[in-house]
Amino acid sequence: MHALSDEVRSAGKRIALVPTMGALHAGHLSLIDHARAQADFLVVSIFVNPLQFDRDADLDAYPRTWEADSALCSEHGVDAIYAPTVPSMYPQGFATKVTVAGLGQGLCGAHRPGHFDGVTTVVAKLFGAAKPHIAVFGQKDYQQLKIITRMTADLDMDLEVIGRPTLREADGLAMSSRNVHLSPEERAQALCLRRALDKARELAQGGERDVETIKTAAAQVVEGAPLARMEYLEVVDADNLAPLARLDGPARMAMAVWLGTTRLIDNDALN
Ligand code: AMP
Repeated sequence: MHALSDEVRSAGKRIALVPTMGALHAGHLSLIDHARAQADFLVVSIFVNPLQFDRDADLDAYPRTWEADSALCSEHGVDAIYAPTVPSMYPQGFATKVTVAGLGQGLCGAHRPGHFDGVTTVVAKLFGAAKPHIAVFGQKDYQQLKIITRMTADLDMDLEVIGRPTLREADGLAMSSRNVHLSPEERAQALCLRRALDKARELAQGGERDVETIKTAAAQVVEGAPLARMEYLEVVDADNLAPLARLDGPARMAMAVWLGTTRLIDNDALN
């Protein structure tokens, strides 16, 4: 990957990177299509990163669909797939960790110990190998996007991080590689995430400023789905992710909900 990026760069070409864990769906493809239009050479990385999994069962069950992924990449004009092995990424003696303080503490960070350190560490390595001019991420993982943007600025990584909107199924469920694990009943009730976000936005846009009121109404939507178990539901400053008591500036609601053994996340702007 190093040699290839050096060659492409020395030909004066612009490199885009879309990091993924594979099991590509239309959400990933929207990032790939966006990146394709911005660069001369498009790299998609596919790496199921053990460092960012906090549960072994989740890592083992993570869908791996190499054949379909590589076919989709060809169809969408990807120039190179970077798919390193785990031992080549983390050989014996690997000892470095990249941590972004503050932004990684709340929301998913509070419930998945070590998760964001795993993400920033692998993304720093992917940036180092692919040497992109731009890297494209989804707002579906909004906290991740903020953390990576911070890391890139703090560590003088000379590239632009671009965030793109969440792609959804026709009924509103955010596309995710983990959706394949849902039973038909869980799949139906997974709509409670989108509905809770809609409820919160409706209240905010109707003039409600008290965050507790908004959170209670949104939580009730989730409680209406008997198979759903809420992990967290938070309203935060859209920029620094600090929890809010009142809606004064740009705010985002973010949530994690379990359906059986599947953990789903979603978020949206409230104003
Ligand atoms: P993952 O393979 O889940 O690690 O995701 C790889 C990239 O795709 C991340 O930047 C995600 O935020 C993004 N992504 C995942 N799901 C969606 C979606 N439904 N819409 C847009 N981007 C997404």
